Amino acid sequence: MAAEKREVKGLVIREAQTGEADEILTLLTAEYGKITVSGKGVRSLRSKHAASAQLFAYSSFLLHKPKQHYYIADSLFIENFMGIRYDVEKLALATYLCDVAAEFALEDIANPSLMQMTLNALYAIASREDIPLARVKAAFEFRVICEEGFAPELYGCGMCGCAMTETAYLDVMNGRVLCRSCQEQYVNSAAYAMDEATAKIHVRLTPAVLCAMRYIHSAPMKRLLSFQLEKSDADILSVACERYLVNHLEHSFSSLEYYHALQENRL
Ligand SMILES: [Zn+2]
Repeated sequence: MAAEKREVKGLVIREAQTGEADEILTLLTAEYGKITVSGKGVRSLRSKHAASAQLFAYSSFLLHKPKQHYYIADSLFIENFMGIRYDVEKLALATYLCDVAAEFALEDIANPSLMQMTLNALYAIASREDIPLARVKAAFEFRVICEEGFAPELYGCGMCGCAMTETAYLDVMNGRVLCRSCQEQYVNSAAYAMDEATAKIHVRLTPAVLCAMRYIHSAPMKRLLSFQLEKSDADILSVACERYLVNHLEHSFSSLEYYHALQENRL
């Protein structure tokens, strides 16, 4: 049987050192989702693939699969989002977003929107000093979970259907938003008290935050980060988007804990 070949543009979203100069790389691609690649010798400075095989590098790859594993037959380096490497907070956020991408990407299943979102987020982290990191994080977290089919209903109260022009509550585990009076009625109901199976996570949203979530849900991918919020609203958005993602995945990430630890130390 002839060796399988793939010519593909890929982003290194994970690297695991397996020997002195060897690594197992996880590539994110539009056409094939996630690809695991054996990077024999790529850590050596003499390797012609050293630049393409670094974490966050985006390159054209020619991959060969003679037996079980793909390996790099050729590579052409395109971009490495250099700005990420000089700032520990940027590095931590980029690592976390790549962990989220690795979680959703499946082997051999095309996912062009995940690829575009991840590249755009890394570009913004590396090069767009005008965009706060918290906005990149929140928009990525919420859009990725929406793209995966877990979007909450954002356009009417999940109980009475009203338009929610004042304070509303994101009912995380039920994937809906409730108006203030329905939320009050719901948390005081017997059904709520007796339900021990569903995690009861409600995040209070201002009208501006709800509006931003609707924007993130449906904006064209290229315009995903083009919204503005006051600091207090941006803080609520951060909490809402992170809880929504993490609770639907049912686990956190060590890279996320590390990002938060860095932020706490900075205060
Ligand atoms: Zn209602």
